[in-house]
Amino acid sequence: MKTFICILFFMLMNSMTMYAQDIYKKFFSDNPVVAHRGAWKTKGIPQNSIESLREAMRLGCAGSEFDIHMTADSVFVLCHDSNYSGMVIEKHTYAELAKIKLPNGETIPTLEQVLLEGMKQTGTRLFLEIKPSSTVERTILSAEKTVKIVNETGAQPWIFYISFSYEAVKRIKQLTPSSVVAYLGGDVSPEQLKKDGITGLDYHHSTFKKDVSMIETARELGLSLNVWTVNSSEDMDLFMSHNVDYITTDAPELLLGKMKESEK
Ligand code: MG
Repeated sequence: MKTFICILFFMLMNSMTMYAQDIYKKFFSDNPVVAHRGAWKTKGIPQNSIESLREAMRLGCAGSEFDIHMTADSVFVLCHDSNYSGMVIEKHTYAELAKIKLPNGETIPTLEQVLLEGMKQTGTRLFLEIKPSSTVERTILSAEKTVKIVNETGAQPWIFYISFSYEAVKRIKQLTPSSVVAYLGGDVSPEQLKKDGITGLDYHHSTFKKDVSMIETARELGLSLNVWTVNSSEDMDLFMSHNVDYITTDAPELLLGKMKESEK
């Protein structure tokens, strides 16, 4: 029922031109915590696994981030690196990759599996990182195919697209203007992101520390503000004090604990 309401909500948002990000935040868990590659560290769960996504959802994170690459036969699999167990993902088929299990016994997850798992609930959003391929053309193709899969699955309300490829980010926004899409690279100004119609910036903590005024500029422009990968207690305090929208971390339990403390 909740899933049905979520899809209805998104259809409504789709028909409106207003900026949906704030409303999304209220609909999903209202904290800034994004588990980086799922919540894996405390329990020794493999990164980018279904189990790490389930753990992020169980903890109540507002988001769970994961990385995808396209195989030689156009299947999207979760993996941080461009090679999986010694195999270059874009040069191997899904069947070849699937022969090698993750340490917890899972088969390398596909994008579809992750979407369906995430859609079982409405607390945790899915921060979907499209990893660049060996060529810009293949990266753009990856972005196009990813959007198609997300739309066909009905998962769009759950998705927060992110990528280091500015070409991919721009293409996603062209294809699906109502989606939330942030750029990871750190080398595009908030003004330019706004001009290009990108939802927000998701930059490394050192980028913001170098130029703290960027935070205010982005906020004034109505851009979403995300920061990665924040693992130290001090840095968590710093970005909490700046009230950024999302903090991506390998230590979601620590950050969730801090959020609870701050509410007392
Ligand atoms: Mg990532």
